[in-house]
Amino acid sequence: MPLENRYDLQQLLLVRMDIPQWHTIWQRNFTRVIPFLDFCQISPSDRLQILSSSPFPINVPERIAKKIEKGSIDDPLFRQFAPLMAEETATAGFDADPLHETTAHCTENILCKYHGRALIITTRACGMHCRFCFRRHYPYCQGPSDFHDELSWLHDHHEIDEVVLSGGDPLAQPTSHLERLLSALGKISHIKRIRLHTRFPIGIPERIDDELLSSLQKIPQQLLVVLHVNHPKELDDEVIVSLSRLRRLGIPLLSQTVLLRGVNDRVEILESLFSTLGNAGIIPYYLHQLDRVLGAAHYEVPVQKGLALVEALRGRMSGYLVPQYVQEVAGRPCKMAVSTAITLS
Ligand code: SF4
Repeated sequence: MPLENRYDLQQLLLVRMDIPQWHTIWQRNFTRVIPFLDFCQISPSDRLQILSSSPFPINVPERIAKKIEKGSIDDPLFRQFAPLMAEETATAGFDADPLHETTAHCTENILCKYHGRALIITTRACGMHCRFCFRRHYPYCQGPSDFHDELSWLHDHHEIDEVVLSGGDPLAQPTSHLERLLSALGKISHIKRIRLHTRFPIGIPERIDDELLSSLQKIPQQLLVVLHVNHPKELDDEVIVSLSRLRRLGIPLLSQTVLLRGVNDRVEILESLFSTLGNAGIIPYYLHQLDRVLGAAHYEVPVQKGLALVEALRGRMSGYLVPQYVQEVAGRPCKMAVSTAITLS
């Protein structure tokens, strides 16, 4: 049977079985190191720098693997998703819970870090595993949740007017689950805004499908989507088109970026990233100093260098395209401008 006919047949079966296309694509992610290195054509000598397994397993969408320059361990996408030996180097100041989130719970799945806002850990799953993730050691609760305790807590706390859907990645759950949660949040009148933080469309843009868009349209509150994106290579045409479907619904799109050594710590790269975002109608919101999580020290960019990069961007770009350079400091009532955080440390 010709390939295209087999593809049609596969689509038909998926529709019959009610499995969305994005989910099938997601299941093709690389989740073992050797096949991923083979696909990226990494040489035997370079493989000596890479862990063969990790308690935080690799998880790389095919789409991202295809964009990696073959044979290069310096590729900015490879560096974000491949487990380097450096992860096993213990570094002073880096620990498993850098933001003290395990002590910030209001319920099992709600973190209360800032005034007026509550963050729901909607799922432990992600579209991909970023090696520098500050939740890479997070003790996620096991199994599905109906968020009964979370919704009841939110009902009782009238001071909360904004809810952040985080994880994991909220778009890693089936749309029907997300819709149930959104619909329940929609009935809590003191919640005025819902912010959805995601990285999923970077690896699997098919996630922004008709079913999701129809669910998002039903929310009475103002919805905002914050996209995690670190390098212009992540933003190909298909990714941008899928994001524009959200924008066309009137959903404001913001971005957050982690400053990462060997990935985006050059002014030309950041300029290209933020102008590509601006061209797509996505406002660069935050540039984060790396959270000092165990296993990620090799990604840290010195703050003085970060400050110089941001200053250089200000001289080259419109002000609204230069994000706030911030650092989260455990126990502080808000994210802090990096310059302030240095003064206080
Ligand atoms: S997608 Fe977000 S939550 Fe998931 S591993 Fe990456 S940074 Fe962490």
